[in-house]
Amino acid sequence: MEDYLKHAIELVKAQASVRVMSEEEMADMIASLAAKLKKLDTFEESEECCSCTAEAPVTDAKRSIKEKSIVCLECGKTFKVITKKHLILHGLDAVSYRAKWGLKKGTPLTCKELQRARRQKMKDMKLWEKRAMAREAAK
Ligand SMILES: [Zn+2]
Repeated sequence: MEDYLKHAIELVKAQASVRVMSEEEMADMIASLAAKLKKLDTFEESEECCSCTAEAPVTDAKRSIKEKSIVCLECGKTFKVITKKHLILHGLDAVSYRAKWGLKKGTPLTCKELQRARRQKMKDMKLWEKRAMAREAAK
């Protein structure tokens, strides 16, 4: 079974233990959670932006990451997310790309707007999980 599905089932189990849920409700919740988790998981792969307008080459790596776009320092194209697929075209992966251009380890190769949206989503997910666990513990 895929991890996000397992994770979704765990979350729904926690919910089901604190309130009465119909089978249908649980199935719906698992499906929608799994989809959400999957989306989070594949975010970097799927959100490639197609407005690949070439800009003037950016030499300052940090300035390549802007509010609504990130510039590939290899080819100067603009994306919302620099995907693994794209980096392969340059014979790189995220780790070697960061190392080559002096970006800090772990720097997300996404525009700032998406970085924030993603952090928020993770936070929401964690909060929800925590609440479910707290309720479980209070029983
Ligand atoms: Zn590129």
